[in-house]
Amino acid sequence: MNFTKFPRRAYLQGATPIEPMENLSKALGKGVNLFVKRDDLLPGASGGNKTRKLEFCLADGLEQGADTIITCGAVQSNHCRLTASWCCKENLECHLVLEERVKGSYKPEASGNNFLFDLLGVKSVSVAPGGSDMMAEMRKKADELKAQGKKPYIVPGGASNAIGALGYVACAEEIMNQLNTEHLNIDHIVVPSGSAGTHAGMVVGMIGTNANISVSGVNVSRPKDVQEGIVFKLAEETALKLGMKMSIPREAVVCYDQYVGPGYSLPTDSMVEAVRLFAKHEAILLDPVYSGKAAAGLLDLVRSGHFPRGANVLFLHTGGSPALYAYLPTFRKEG
Ligand SMILES: *Cc1c(COP(=O)(O)O)cnc(C)c1O
Repeated sequence: MNFTKFPRRAYLQGATPIEPMENLSKALGKGVNLFVKRDDLLPGASGGNKTRKLEFCLADGLEQGADTIITCGAVQSNHCRLTASWCCKENLECHLVLEERVKGSYKPEASGNNFLFDLLGVKSVSVAPGGSDMMAEMRKKADELKAQGKKPYIVPGGASNAIGALGYVACAEEIMNQLNTEHLNIDHIVVPSGSAGTHAGMVVGMIGTNANISVSGVNVSRPKDVQEGIVFKLAEETALKLGMKMSIPREAVVCYDQYVGPGYSLPTDSMVEAVRLFAKHEAILLDPVYSGKAAAGLLDLVRSGHFPRGANVLFLHTGGSPALYAYLPTFRKEG
């Protein structure tokens, strides 16, 4: 795969580790060997998957002469935290438009990522009601900033366009290099599926490297059919951008939606259990919105016998642990 045709900043420090989760695998008692790709340890304040995508998105902005970045996300957005974080390093001004997906959920004094927006020097935070056209909201902000003489560049939600998804195509290649070097045979990869860039990039990368490893996405908000459509479309756009010769089969995009619960960012019992099990057995901190629900899916797939005995399954840990601190009552009431 050739990424040198695209503007790219260097935010990584080598490959993130792939670790066996022996304690958790044993606790589940199904003879499935679980491994974890530690993208929660990526650079950028508190780490997480958006750093890989921002290597490409912010490079594109810088190449276009931007001095100001506008992006959007939910009220506890990890993507907004990491965009603000890399804006610090790049000396770019950062403006956030937050979507209040759960009514009344935006609290300026909230902990977690919201607190970090402030520490990371975000220039402005505006809040739009749930269901708003976020691209339109960001364009409005861009017009405002242009009138002040700024050169704004819009990074879409989750940095999930074909530019950002390149970061996860590159991650797939990184994983294959690690597996080949360590002679570790992985049968299946499980990833969270949100704004879709991570899932789409991983699918494109696994196909593009002829890995013969299937990828499953665990949804955090949308129904299966809708999410699969979004991931597939983005995968096709990303493959086209890379000039890939092989096409992406529709069947390569598989999503599970039974772990979403009542909705995006709303706690579920299985998420709480997954967060507790990863912490207790592996000293790994998940988050309540993405990696916790994806891990709940992983645990259920293992327990229900979805993977045969002896299978090696790799879970992509996309980060997000700062959001845990905005969910203390969820974990306390259940203790
Ligand atoms: C954004 C995010 C995801 C989802 O990745 P997408 O590329 O948006 O699908 C998963 N985990 C965490 C912690 C995230 O912040």
